[in-house]
Amino acid sequence: MTGAADGAYALWEAEYDKAYDNPSAVHTQACAGCGERCLHLMFVVDAGQPEKGRPLFWCSNCNRGIFLCRTDIPEGAERISKEQADDVPNYQVVIPT
Ligand SMILES: [Zn+2]
Repeated sequence: MTGAADGAYALWEAEYDKAYDNPSAVHTQACAGCGERCLHLMFVVDAGQPEKGRPLFWCSNCNRGIFLCRTDIPEGAERISKEQADDVPNYQVVIPT
């Protein structure tokens, strides 16, 4: 296991839940890792299934985030294609402890 603060996963999950409920306000939330308001939430959409996507949730300040399974995309959330997902930084995944 690498450096991400232990016990942080629950904090990340809580921030993700908030972002999922109100995606357009994700930039107002403080990062669970560093406290900066640099969080991003995007959903990688497969062609032909626009209502579902794989969430990418990360902070562009400390470059940490969490990995989540495909889910329904909430209203107002940012959608990107698989090709666009290649441009998302390869952030450090905080894992459950
Ligand atoms: Zn951060």
